[in-house]
Amino acid sequence: MTTTAPTTASSSTEIPTIDHWIDGKRVAGTSGRTSPVFDPALGVATKNVALASQEEIDAAIASAKAAFPAWRDLSITKRQQIMFRFRELVNERKDELAEILTAEHGKVLSDSLGEIQRGLEVLELATGFPHLIKGEFSQQVSTGVDVYSTKSPLGVVGVISPFNFPVMVPMWFFPIAIAVGNTVVLKPSEKDPSSSIFLAELFKEAGLPDGVFTVLQGDKLAVDGLLNSPDVASISFVGSTPIARYIYETAAKNGKRVQALGGAKNHMLVLPDADLDLVADSAINAGFGSAGERCMAISVLVAVGDVADMVVPLITERMKGLTIGDGRRSCDMGPLVTKQHRDKVASYVDIAIEDGADVVVDGRGIQVDGEPGGFWFGPTLIDKVPLTSRVYTEEIFGPVLSIVRVDTYEEGVALINSGAFGNGTAIFTNDGGAARRFQNEIEVGMIGINVPIPVPVAYYSFGGFKDSIFGDSKAYGLQGFEFFTREKAITARWSDPSHGGINLGFPQA
Ligand code: NAD
Repeated sequence: MTTTAPTTASSSTEIPTIDHWIDGKRVAGTSGRTSPVFDPALGVATKNVALASQEEIDAAIASAKAAFPAWRDLSITKRQQIMFRFRELVNERKDELAEILTAEHGKVLSDSLGEIQRGLEVLELATGFPHLIKGEFSQQVSTGVDVYSTKSPLGVVGVISPFNFPVMVPMWFFPIAIAVGNTVVLKPSEKDPSSSIFLAELFKEAGLPDGVFTVLQGDKLAVDGLLNSPDVASISFVGSTPIARYIYETAAKNGKRVQALGGAKNHMLVLPDADLDLVADSAINAGFGSAGERCMAISVLVAVGDVADMVVPLITERMKGLTIGDGRRSCDMGPLVTKQHRDKVASYVDIAIEDGADVVVDGRGIQVDGEPGGFWFGPTLIDKVPLTSRVYTEEIFGPVLSIVRVDTYEEGVALINSGAFGNGTAIFTNDGGAARRFQNEIEVGMIGINVPIPVPVAYYSFGGFKDSIFGDSKAYGLQGFEFFTREKAITARWSDPSHGGINLGFPQA
């Protein structure tokens, strides 16, 4: 039975240290390097996480490499049975997983459960892998000759994930990668690393052989170890844009397949004919859910015509009803992930004031249902944000919603298309023709029509454009299966070769 404490206890007086998961068991770190893991609602470090040394990186990759041939060759039926059992265990234990997640990330429990649910949906898709890795077959392409293709796993694949979805983002990748026969080394965010160990334990309980799923705790050293190892065939990364670009360039230089998803600044375009109550609800949900620490959060509302004058009071009124506090106490919004990040997000209020924007609701110094030392910052609404302000140009990654005013639909589309990112966007309108035109003209990878956070379901693929993605492949969906397999094309002749005769040209028939 899997335990819930994802740690090695050092002593009763010290805080525990979160281990690696190598060769099907917890392995205590030996590097002597650790990083603190905070409970953001309490504002204190409750654990440390081990940071891998080069020897531990090598051991993790060697274990995954050794496990690969047997896992690749295990029958599809047996692999599928393990995936089904893992799905059942994650589903059964999701409340415990949500507790672990909230205690390190800070998001409210219902949101943690929502994140787990989205991860489960990819896992459920992965259980159907036999249908999705079938090859093609052409009979008698030449006399006595057949051609067919197979989709083979790559080998050891690396997954590097961000802090904001410690369950969902790893699950965008590793269930598909493992189902199709790869072995995975996951390097979780060092800010909230326990969920990965819990998932590894459940996978083992489901029957996964040792070494097929490895969790390597660490920082840049571990990331670089994966990027530079000749034994790692591919890298799947999600995180900020500068690191995504570095991952893409380094992995490509080293000859690896790479998908690297980066940051975002998502706009919601509101036309004058939109349902403004729906707009206000959606702006609140997409702007402040998970304290804005979502790559698909809406951070800019682009109001066309006189929409802003009507919608700002509707949003402001709703913001008064939001409860902020410890995510375990049925609040609407939790704290930010670290003090450093909270202070950075809060600094944008000063920038907004300096740049002449109108701070309608200031999230600093709010009343919370939680410990005073927690990393609190309340929902913030800033109107009339100048396009030159860093409040507009930078990804804030906190509960800060900007309002930008434009005169026309065309001006709004041009503004969105001029941005560096192209992750998600939404249009709110009751005009089907305008919505259809928007989906055609907008240069963004994921588009909502009266839907503020258009995260694609598991059987489509997730990914943006421009600085929001590097590499050729999006996450999960059919592109996920393509990424984690490579095709072999086989030409076979079963007639007696001695009857073939000599022919130095291509076959004619
Ligand atoms: P981050 O880039 O700081 O960290 C992501 C991962 O990279 C972590 O595992 C971290 O340990 C590692 N890392 C950090 N610095 C590194 C370095 N110098 N060299 C090598 N590795 C390094 O991102 P974060 O703060 O954890 O997550 C938030 C960011 O992720 C936001 O920008 C958000 O938009 C983005 N994000 C994007 C998506 C998407 O699908 N596009 C989804 C979730 C989050």
